Amino acid sequence: MPKTIIEPFRIKVVEPIELSTEEQRQQYLKEAHYNTFLLESGKVIIDLLTDSGTSAMSARQWGGIMQGDESYAGARSWLKMKAAITDLTGFEHILPTHQGRAAERILYAYLGGKGKYFLSNTHFDTTRANIEYTGATAIDCLTEVGKHPETEHPFKGNIAIDLLVENIQKYGPENIGAVILTVTNNSGGGQPVSMENAREVRQVCDKFGVLFILDACRIAENAYFIGQREEGYQDIAYKDIAREMCRLADGCIMSAKKDALVNMGGFLALKDKAIVDACTSMLIITEGFVTYGGLSGRDMEAIAIGLEEVFDPDYLNYRIVSTAYLGNKLTQMGIPIVKPVGGHAVYVDARAFYDHIPVEEFPGQALVADLYLKGGIRAVEIGSVMFGKYDGAGKLIPAPMDLVRLAIPRRVYTQSHIDYVVETFAELLDGKSSSKGFKITYEPEFLRHFTAHFTRL
Ligand SMILES: *Cc1c(COP(=O)(O)O)cnc(C)c1O
Repeated sequence: MPKTIIEPFRIKVVEPIELSTEEQRQQYLKEAHYNTFLLESGKVIIDLLTDSGTSAMSARQWGGIMQGDESYAGARSWLKMKAAITDLTGFEHILPTHQGRAAERILYAYLGGKGKYFLSNTHFDTTRANIEYTGATAIDCLTEVGKHPETEHPFKGNIAIDLLVENIQKYGPENIGAVILTVTNNSGGGQPVSMENAREVRQVCDKFGVLFILDACRIAENAYFIGQREEGYQDIAYKDIAREMCRLADGCIMSAKKDALVNMGGFLALKDKAIVDACTSMLIITEGFVTYGGLSGRDMEAIAIGLEEVFDPDYLNYRIVSTAYLGNKLTQMGIPIVKPVGGHAVYVDARAFYDHIPVEEFPGQALVADLYLKGGIRAVEIGSVMFGKYDGAGKLIPAPMDLVRLAIPRRVYTQSHIDYVVETFAELLDGKSSSKGFKITYEPEFLRHFTAHFTRL
């Protein structure tokens, strides 16, 4: 049997890609103030901005959409979605939201506030923003190995248990809003978290009486890694691995735009009735009635089907292997990436790649701009633009790493698209030393990377 791992699907509907020239892209990027979030998508050739909400849905999901029940209360589609989530998470109380951050806002507004602390392997940007917006503090407790892009380790997404305990004791268990374990660790390189680590988090949370929330956006991809890498999980179905992890937590948040294989949606799933009741009021005020939250019936139908499809072993194998394909090609060319390759994206170490650009001039943003100019490829900076802060004197406190994420939409691009990305990198490698950094000319107070303006130095 041939060894090539193929895309385990046929293409039934196509969306044309408009090609452009480098001169045109110079103009487009200038008009977007050098922020690729501000580009029109039609001006992008390969869009690796995010894997969020960009999945191709299956024929079965599209069929489900026609069967969406749009009843205000008690819709059939809601019951299907609820059953699928309860089957996965084991939680009975499910609050549907229009996307992950709505679930975050509802939960962390209740658990947060001034004087509260949240501890996570790495807070995703919307997670951190929702926590800080309430006046609470978000502290990342990533393991030391997770901070070194070059170091190989099977579970670089793990939370550092010693830091976790230290912080709980320092701030007092009563002041900890929650421990949030993000699987896979998106901001930390899409790296997986082991079951053993999740079990240890459970023990620490039990010991101190602290709430354990799982950010389950990519729990299927995380389960694949556990199945491949963790002792004792080789013969267990991916879905059962995911189930086991969910059952360690007190609740979970999920953006369905990731591993539920849909374009919009999310939910909050909880064990504790008191928290559910508080969150339900906020859900009704800001999202919608309890049986649809922020979703249409058709969305809920597609989520129920997507949560099933994502655990198909052939799909997960293709998914993880095809992401690694890009990473391995870049590594062979000598381009520094976060290793090992994570589940949904390849993270290029832009600080190392553009080592002539000082951190204050955002080497990650420079690489993002150059990928677009050279190949029409849209990527995203995950570094000092996204997470940098200023000290009292207005000097940049850089993020620990300046990465550029090449996120792979699920079931969307074929191998030749990815080969084109690899070729673009080869061209950038040739002209590497002439690339210039950036200066921020406009930034909002929260989540500045989405709307900031830049000028090239
Ligand atoms: C995407 C994401 C979120 C937020 O979800 P949205 O649907 O984009 O609002 C939260 N946590 C993680 C880890 C994510 O990847």
